Amino acid sequence: MKSHTCRAALVALLVATGPAEATGPAEAGHDRQAAASAADPHPTFTVGTATAQRGQKVYGALKVPAGSDAGYDIPVVVIHGARPGPVLAVASGAHGSEYASIIAVEMLIDAVKPDDVAGTLILLPIINVPSFERITPHVNPTDNKSMNRFYPGDPKGTQTDRASYEITKEVIDQCDHLIDLHGGDLDENLRPYSYWTVTGNQKQDDFSRAMVLAFGLDHIIISADRPKDPKASRYLENTATTRGKPSFTAEAGRSGPVEIGDAARLSAGVRNVMAHLKMGGTVAAPLRNPVWVEKIVSLTAERDGMFHPTVDRDAHVAKGARVGIVTDYLNRPLQDVVAPEAGIIMFIRALPSLKKGDTLASIGVVKMGG
Ligand SMILES: [Zn+2]
Repeated sequence: MKSHTCRAALVALLVATGPAEATGPAEAGHDRQAAASAADPHPTFTVGTATAQRGQKVYGALKVPAGSDAGYDIPVVVIHGARPGPVLAVASGAHGSEYASIIAVEMLIDAVKPDDVAGTLILLPIINVPSFERITPHVNPTDNKSMNRFYPGDPKGTQTDRASYEITKEVIDQCDHLIDLHGGDLDENLRPYSYWTVTGNQKQDDFSRAMVLAFGLDHIIISADRPKDPKASRYLENTATTRGKPSFTAEAGRSGPVEIGDAARLSAGVRNVMAHLKMGGTVAAPLRNPVWVEKIVSLTAERDGMFHPTVDRDAHVAKGARVGIVTDYLNRPLQDVVAPEAGIIMFIRALPSLKKGDTLASIGVVKMGG
């Protein structure tokens, strides 16, 4: 009975892989081959239009179908390593003018060779193509929605909902881990940092913490207030995390121009995590003493006007310290912007343009004794 099952599996394998070979003296070899294939959960790997065999790098697209508005293609690369291993997805460009994070993934497309990889790397360099094309910060200009707030998506919604649905189905459901890369948008003067999401599941949280430390950015925001319901996960990282897949978000780059050092830090961070996950490469020394940020205080504009920052990104500010001034269009002071708590300027508004409700600065409150 056992050998029949084996033979059936072998026949199925030969049918699936094409060329049939004669049975006979080589049968022991076939059994080994069958065993090796049975141990490989992904002889091929498909994301959208990209199907890769082991040892291949394949370029394709996730097709977002037309609905109440236009459809579009989200570019994707599948690097299906020569040997089995974890499936890591790396996404950027949910905000299509956070350029350093996009260029980081472009760098990975060239740098990672499938022969060196154990496992599979799914690369999505530009989720929000309409934002990239039209240089629109924060949102998808097609439906005016942030492309990191509508997961797990909806096939019947507007373009952002449908794109989010495709990414959940094609990428999140197939990966073991996800890294979502962001950075300072056109109006954000940001210092680099990662987020570590705390779910309350000790094993998963230890796993994701080790990934964040391996990634290597030395400021880490502890994120404990993200949704727990996988049906209302909102964020991309959270969509993977609420499905039991240790994942995280990292940010570097700011305010338009690509500083190649920022892109390189993100790209090197991904290589570090790949090494940590035993997907290939050298394990870099994990961070020993990162700055843990336990709370983010966002300062918002009370009225329309013009913003004049008085501190730079990464400044350490005392409670009550001034971080900027809002004036009217005739340079008359309207609002003194002060820090309600002591902390680090994680980002500060990079442009004078200001509407009521815009974020002026984000202050990271450092965890003491952490
Ligand atoms: Zn972003």
